Amino acid sequence: MSNLTLSFGPDGIATLTLDRQGSSANIFDVAALHELDAHLATLEARPEVRGLLIVSAKPKIFIAGADLNSFAGATVEQLGEIVGLGHRIFTRLERLPFPSVAAVHGVCLGGGCELALACDWRVGSLDKSTKIGLPETQLGILPAWGGSVRLPRLIGLPAALGIILAGKQLVAQQALKAGLVDDVAHPEYLVAAARRQLAKGKRRVAWAGGWMNSVALRPVVAMKARKDVLAKTHGHYPAPLKALDVCVAAYGQPLERGLALEKAAFLELVQTPACRSLMSIFFLQERAKKLKIPGAEGAGRPVARVAVIGAGVMGAGIAQWSAARGYPTLLKDVAPAALAKGLKTAEKIFQDGVKKKKLTPAEATAGLDRITPVSADVPLADVDLVIEAAVEKLELKQAIFRQLESRAAPHTVLATNTSALSIDAIAGGLADPGRVVGIHFFNPVHRMQLVEIVRGPRTSPAALDTALGYVKAIGKLPVLVQDSPGFLVNRILLPYMVEAVRLFAEGVPVERLDRIMRDFGMPMGPARLCDEVGLDVAQHVAVDLQRRLPKPVPIDATLEKMIAKGWLGKKSGTGFYVFPAEKGAKERPNPDVAFLQPSQAGRAPDDATLLDRLVLVMINEAARVLEEGVVAAPEDVDFGMIFGTGWAPFRGGPLRYADTRGVAEIVARLQKLQSEVAPHFEPCTKLRHMAQSSARFYPSN
Ligand code: NAD
Repeated sequence: MSNLTLSFGPDGIATLTLDRQGSSANIFDVAALHELDAHLATLEARPEVRGLLIVSAKPKIFIAGADLNSFAGATVEQLGEIVGLGHRIFTRLERLPFPSVAAVHGVCLGGGCELALACDWRVGSLDKSTKIGLPETQLGILPAWGGSVRLPRLIGLPAALGIILAGKQLVAQQALKAGLVDDVAHPEYLVAAARRQLAKGKRRVAWAGGWMNSVALRPVVAMKARKDVLAKTHGHYPAPLKALDVCVAAYGQPLERGLALEKAAFLELVQTPACRSLMSIFFLQERAKKLKIPGAEGAGRPVARVAVIGAGVMGAGIAQWSAARGYPTLLKDVAPAALAKGLKTAEKIFQDGVKKKKLTPAEATAGLDRITPVSADVPLADVDLVIEAAVEKLELKQAIFRQLESRAAPHTVLATNTSALSIDAIAGGLADPGRVVGIHFFNPVHRMQLVEIVRGPRTSPAALDTALGYVKAIGKLPVLVQDSPGFLVNRILLPYMVEAVRLFAEGVPVERLDRIMRDFGMPMGPARLCDEVGLDVAQHVAVDLQRRLPKPVPIDATLEKMIAKGWLGKKSGTGFYVFPAEKGAKERPNPDVAFLQPSQAGRAPDDATLLDRLVLVMINEAARVLEEGVVAAPEDVDFGMIFGTGWAPFRGGPLRYADTRGVAEIVARLQKLQSEVAPHFEPCTKLRHMAQSSARFYPSN
């Protein structure tokens, strides 16, 4: 298979075109590296060549990175050879006797960025698809084809650490500001801009100067970076710390010494459990992108126009995201004030995109213009997909859907964003219930990547496939779930939040609960999460699940008492925490909660027991979800929880965590909690059966 072609212009400029045959993406595997090596040998042997231009023939990808699939099965020795091969070939590129330039249009990540860094010059295309960066630490490794050495050398230690330790991906303007590219240009002028760089000749290889990079200040820079990493990762992620050590130690050293450090660190990191979990998440993400629904494949219609019903928190977010992805979007609300507020919300998200340089002002304006706000009933005949995001009341949703059915075209797919109601019940009164499907976004829509696609018992293949096509087209990650209470994510998350409330009611301070779960690796603790979601919403979903599930986690009266006081969490300013109105001020635990807790606290459970009470209810529920067939595979559970809630990624998701601890141990622990704390810890049938046969959720690893 060919990956690269080399051509020679009459002006002495050679062009290396990245174009992996039979693939929509350019990626680096061993074969591609060898091909590059052979082309470099050809170039070295042609004395008439005065410069090398590297371009991609793919519409949206320069080089997506190294081929993780082909590396996944490699031994440590083989990985060492692959790293060495990349080092040798990229250094050969760097040392060509004439200047080289990477004209980067599209995704240029990991190994792709390292190739660009080995060139003398880099130019970034202003197209939105262009993303340049080194995301390796997000996979539990570090840039190991020279990136940990060459990026700090090019842009200095503090700026490079900012990119490498966070695994950042930059759009062209951000890359220019950081010094990662030397110029930016619109796609049609990219090659011309790149050729201008070649005219500057060979770049002198030198370590970035400035006092922040001086020998004296490097330890200070490193110390601050370490502190920032630890604050974010709680020490659970070895990769950023290792990358930090390598970047600092390699700074100012001969290239070969830096590359050797990089290689040694890489080979250490690939053997860590965190790396294995993070790699598995990468593959889960790829799996979601390729999701197909058996029996529904190809049944759907492409979506050209969208309507969103309800301009509240979710409706505004969904309309903004759809419009940003190019869909003309009708946004309807019965309340003009809500509509105005929804539009303001969408505008703010667009403006934030401009501030972060993810969008140009013109793109933001065009995006906002694609939203048409309406409060009257307008014809929906030319809309392909309606997403309802009105208030969570079954009768109201049923009425909305009856009206939608009478006004939309027969092919229009009618979707609901309901968090908890039954899709089938919502479709109940329709002549064609098959057109109703759940498209369940998470809050905030512009940040959360997961979308649950909910299949009702009568949902048609056409509706499902249309929904799936749309979710993929807007760049979200889908998981297919059955129409069952709480679907996937809320079903597993709610018992955890309810258990946290129960522990609080037993007298455990919220800071302690939240600290334990943050230390475990959650992005926020459960009490703080209740405040974020809204205590009324949490209570509503919990009551709903209690009513509809055969073995619910029982709820107590705590949230009801808090709601009665007007404490709804963050949105009301008070919940488990008090949220000061001043901008930037941090929330603090609510001092008035004494009436909710026992006056004479009993013996507080130890941290390990608290942790198990919170985590094992989730694992038990996750196993039930599989047992009932709400989702098809353990991968769906772990993927949903990580992308829908930020569930401790380095642990690989609740079921991978269960495997790590051992299902038999989890069952024993649940049984102990069942007899000592409360009956709802009874392990489900699936877990018990698995424990008896020493089974794992992931049998192969
Ligand atoms: P919200 O209260 O913020 O907004 C609902 C909007 O619907 C209001 O602006 C209201 O005026 C409007 N509305 C009411 N009746 C209408 C009608 N007949 N036609 C058009 N508009 C109407 O609610 P939200 O938080 O955005 O939730 C909307 C839906 O999304 C609910 O089903 C909810 O369960 C679900 N959901 C919410 C979240 C979340 O975190 N808020 C997350 C996922 C899903």
